[in-house]
Amino acid sequence: MTDSPLMPVYAPSPANFVRGEGARLFDASGRSWLDFIAGIAVNGLGHCHPALVAALKAQSEKLWHVSNLYQTDLQRSLAQRYVDATFADVVYFSNSGTEAVETALKVARRFHATNGAPERIDIIGFEGAFHGRTYGAINAAGNPNYLDGFGPRLPGYVRLGWGDHEALKAAVASPTAAAVIVEPVQGEGGVRAMPESCLVGLRELCDAHGVLLIFDEVQCGAGRTGKLFAHEWANITPDIMTVAKGVGGGFPLGACLATGRAAEGMVKGTHGSTYGGNPLAMAVGHAVWDELTKPELLEHVRRVSGHFTQSLEGLKDTHPDLIVDVRGKGLLRGLKLSVDPLPVRTACFERGLLCGTAGDNVLRFAPPFIIDEKDVSEAIGIIDASLSAVRASKAA
Ligand SMILES: *Cc1c(COP(=O)(O)O)cnc(C)c1O
Repeated sequence: MTDSPLMPVYAPSPANFVRGEGARLFDASGRSWLDFIAGIAVNGLGHCHPALVAALKAQSEKLWHVSNLYQTDLQRSLAQRYVDATFADVVYFSNSGTEAVETALKVARRFHATNGAPERIDIIGFEGAFHGRTYGAINAAGNPNYLDGFGPRLPGYVRLGWGDHEALKAAVASPTAAAVIVEPVQGEGGVRAMPESCLVGLRELCDAHGVLLIFDEVQCGAGRTGKLFAHEWANITPDIMTVAKGVGGGFPLGACLATGRAAEGMVKGTHGSTYGGNPLAMAVGHAVWDELTKPELLEHVRRVSGHFTQSLEGLKDTHPDLIVDVRGKGLLRGLKLSVDPLPVRTACFERGLLCGTAGDNVLRFAPPFIIDEKDVSEAIGIIDASLSAVRASKAA
């Protein structure tokens, strides 16, 4: 038993942070950590970015919440900015990633029901996927660890092996197929980027069978790969896209974007949320978008991520026994290890670096975009020392 009043679904590290600034977090004693996980790919602009703080402060003195019974210019104008910059014609705002995914799944099924094919309900997902923790999202991802004990699996979800092209072709050709959902770069599942040629092939396959394509860019979107959205690298677009994490910069905000055609069925009364699109989230969302769309920001992400990736490749040469592979894209990076990544993460933490883990034995990095080469060198030094320490403790 635990003496905590919190439902023990997490096992947080003992650190108790009280302040953040840029790429650093501080505990009450003033000790600092270099943050290379950024609240799980959320604080892309770093902690307490002055423009975000100013936007939240200013909005908090004007208007917090009115519900979607009333419209606000802030909501409309942020949606317009997303629409102008992407494939999408319409935007639905949520408070989190999993709600955005839930919306996307409903949009897809509703599309087919509206177009006279209510039997088209299958949501086709991939092994290693993560789409959040609602029932729809855990069924779409199909990870048994997250489904176990929560009752029967929902009907209409199909899970395919990563890279199983034959199974994919068969699933998409099925008369009950509704949509394919995929992360262009898998986050939780092991920081695996879907090859650009596969994304292109997937688009063609979906088009050939009238199946909608959903990109879950909750983790890999919002500038993290060096493009505003990760699918832009493949020069294709989805019918529906989910975003969250980075678009709020630390304020809870998510969105489901869609083409007008895909969202055809989402008429008045088909979906909703009390808080989705609230003025506080919208004000911060605008400030985040201002920063993300400065051309120098994405240029910086591409440059610094190139440097970081090269340095990780260098570490692989130094520790060929421990590092199997450098994975991911841009500033969403993973080191696939030959050992459990958890002790390495702990060793990094003890030396002042925060990083994460992901499935498939991966040590995960999602630093804020504002890091510079000095930060990268510091992080690489700590990862290097941590790998050596873990090797030494294994030998002992
Ligand atoms: C984190 C994540 C989600 C869920 O977002 P929440 O805000 O935790 O609900 C969904 N999809 C992907 C790809 C994610 O990384």
